Amino acid sequence: MKVAFCSSEVFPFAKTGGMADVAGALPFALAKQGCEVKVFMPLYKGIKPRENFTDYGVTRKEGVEFFFIRNDKYFLREYLYGTGRGDYSDNLERFSFFCRQALSIIKKIVFPAQIIHTNDWQTALMNVYLKSEPIFGDSFFKNTKSVFTVHNLAYQGVFDKSKYDKLGLAEKYFNDRYLEFYGRINLLKGGLIFSDMITTVSPTYAKQIQTVDYGCGLEGVLREKRSRLLGILNAVDYDVWNPSRDKYIYKPYCPATIKDKYENKRRFQKELGLKVSRNTLLLGMVSRLASQKGVDILQESLDCILRRCQVVVLGFGDEKYHKSLKKKAVKFKDSFSLHLKFDESLAHRIYAGSDCFLMPSVFEPCGLSQMISYKYGTVPIVYHTGGLVDTVADVEAGGGGFVFDNYSVGDFIATVERAVELFSNKDDGLKLIKRIMNYDFSWKAAAVQYMEVYKKCRCWR
Ligand code: ADP
Repeated sequence: MKVAFCSSEVFPFAKTGGMADVAGALPFALAKQGCEVKVFMPLYKGIKPRENFTDYGVTRKEGVEFFFIRNDKYFLREYLYGTGRGDYSDNLERFSFFCRQALSIIKKIVFPAQIIHTNDWQTALMNVYLKSEPIFGDSFFKNTKSVFTVHNLAYQGVFDKSKYDKLGLAEKYFNDRYLEFYGRINLLKGGLIFSDMITTVSPTYAKQIQTVDYGCGLEGVLREKRSRLLGILNAVDYDVWNPSRDKYIYKPYCPATIKDKYENKRRFQKELGLKVSRNTLLLGMVSRLASQKGVDILQESLDCILRRCQVVVLGFGDEKYHKSLKKKAVKFKDSFSLHLKFDESLAHRIYAGSDCFLMPSVFEPCGLSQMISYKYGTVPIVYHTGGLVDTVADVEAGGGGFVFDNYSVGDFIATVERAVELFSNKDDGLKLIKRIMNYDFSWKAAAVQYMEVYKKCRCWR
């Protein structure tokens, strides 16, 4: 199977969240299943080498080719999509350019892709272009099917209709059966409508997005296409996330050398300037700072949680959260360590050095952090939603995390207190840690399911 995999972020080249982790791992897992995969992404600032790249550049890694599409006016910027104050105003121009250019390169290099697999609104237009003039009818793509993966339905790529002519699409597609959404252009909607198969990143989220509560206005479209919608659970790249060979942490460890996890905790507390204490629970959080991630509930609970625990937050995002969290960090400087940036290395030390990981997400398409945490023996504390339902069962039900079912400050605090309680018994804590470290959320199972999806859409006309 020949697959062109297109994503606006791919780890380790560019990352703001989980989609980059997926795009940096799934292509290799697909290659192991016998696929020929070429990955397409923008050439952002900081990606090297770039000097010899003209319209695009190529690098090869473990059997997968990476194509970086160059346009310095659009992609040579400080951030991928926008600043803390908001999105870049020309995102439609930037990503529609990317989509057209990716298709033209696929044709130029004569890559007879059987599947074009796109991800979220940034690449959704590729699915649209494949089924609309002038590309539709181009014999080069006549055997190409498209798969569209929704990583987060809340980000839809919505733009003013005055920009429609920049898309190069016929006027007839600007109506509510296609790209129009309440008078505006909605790129994600286009991806849903024009793709042969839609996937999303967990089975529970696949069901939830067909409801008014989670569908972000697109539940009707998703219900209509439900026979072509499937939830495939994301996974973790254990070459990247593995405490037994992690270059960013203080001391490697595995289930047989758990005491070294505590060496990581000790030295990490020191690094953060927190009191060094094995018995004080250290709660970590690594997250985009967006309302989705439960930053509000975290802030409201902090005063109470910090009476018994230490908390370290690494996050970047909405400026309003930067401001309010900074105030908390001043107020609780002995027990709350705040880092407002994107920092891969620090993220690893948080997963390794914390006892528990906080994920009070309001909604969560899949979530990777809870699965990464397991590998590091760090117990996730999560709200019962989306992919967290599929990956975290409560310890009381034999699972490996602490789960709260009612989204309230009280229930969140009570759940953190259950964790404190369990860890107050060292043996119980150790047993739990060892158990979760042995969970297997590797990419193979997902890659096999994606292969099935590819085969299935090849049978459709
Ligand atoms: P989402 O994709 O919604 O942001 P996920 O849980 O699926 O959330 O994936 C988040 C990924 O991004 C994880 O790999 C997490 O460690 C990483 N991450 C999030 N924020 C930061 C940050 N500020 N610094 C470093 N890594 C981060």
